[in-house]
Amino acid sequence: MIIFKKVSQLQDWIKARKHEGLHIGFVPTMGALHQGHMSLTEWSKDECDITIVSIFVNPRQFNDPQDLIKYPRPIADDLHLLLKNEIEVLFLPEVEEIYPANQDLILDFDPGLLGSVMEGKFRPGHFAGVAQVMYRLLTIIEPDRLYMGQKDFQQVAIVKKLIADQHLQARLIMCPTLREPNGLAMSSRNLRLSPQARIEASLIYATLTECQKNFEEDVPIAEIKQRAMETLTRKDFKPEYFSIVDGTTLADIEYKNDSRFVVACCAVNVEGVRLIDNLIWTKNE
Ligand code: AMP
Repeated sequence: MIIFKKVSQLQDWIKARKHEGLHIGFVPTMGALHQGHMSLTEWSKDECDITIVSIFVNPRQFNDPQDLIKYPRPIADDLHLLLKNEIEVLFLPEVEEIYPANQDLILDFDPGLLGSVMEGKFRPGHFAGVAQVMYRLLTIIEPDRLYMGQKDFQQVAIVKKLIADQHLQARLIMCPTLREPNGLAMSSRNLRLSPQARIEASLIYATLTECQKNFEEDVPIAEIKQRAMETLTRKDFKPEYFSIVDGTTLADIEYKNDSRFVVACCAVNVEGVRLIDNLIWTKNE
C-alpha cells in the first residue's frame, strides 16, 4: 500500500494513473475503520481501477470540541485492515495539508434546507465543515466515483448538492449501511459504548423497522414519531430527533402520500455517545 501524506505527491501519482486511462474510486473516511468502511472500498474496487481511501479527522466538522478530542484514532488497526483488504492507496494528510495556513479555503455553497434540518439543527456548523473538507478532497483527488454510506444519509444529500453546485465531476454512489448482527449500524463511535449499551443500542434499528410497519399500516405520521421518541427514551438513552422526511428534499412529511421516497432518520444519545441511523421506507421512482 502506498501512503501519501502530501497533497502534491498524491496529485502527481494520480495524474500519472489518469494518463494511463485508469478510473479512480475514492472513499473518504475519518478512520477507526470497520466493515462498513470496507464495504465502500469493495464497491469501489468492483467498479474502478484504483481505489483511494483517505483518513482525515476533519476538525472543522466537529461542533463539539470534546467530541473531536474523544474521536477514536486507532491508526495501527486501520493500517492493518486496509492492508488485509488490499487497498492500494491511502491518503493520510495532516490538518495543515488540508487547510494550509496561508491559503483560505473559500467555498460559496449553501445547502439550504438540506443543511438546516436534523443533523444541521442539532450540530450547527457541522455540514459547513463537511462541505469544506469534501470540496477540498474532491478537488485534490478528482475521482471518477465517490463512495459514501447511506448511514450518513443527510451527508450524502448535501455532498450530492455540493458536487452539482460546484460542477465537480465525481459521480456519487450511496452504499447500503452495514450493521452488527443485532441491527446496530456499524460506526466508529460504537467503540465508545459499553458492551451492555452496544447490545441495547439495537433498539434504534428495531424502532426504525417497527415504525416502518406502523407506516405501512397507515398509522398517522405524528403518532409514529411520538411513539418512536417514547420508545427511544430510556435509562442512558436520549433521542434527539426522529424525523420522517422526503429522501430528496429532506422536508418533513405530514401524510404518507406526501412523498414516494420516504426516509426515517434519527439521532440518539446513548451513554453520551451520539448515534445516528436511518431507514428508507419507500422508494418508488
Ligand atoms: P466516517 O469515517 O464516519 O466519516 O465514515 C466514512 C464513510 O463511511 C461515510 O461515507 C459513511 O457514511 C460510511 N459509513 C460509516 N458507517 C457505515 C456503515 N455502517 N455502513 C456503510 N457505510 C458506512
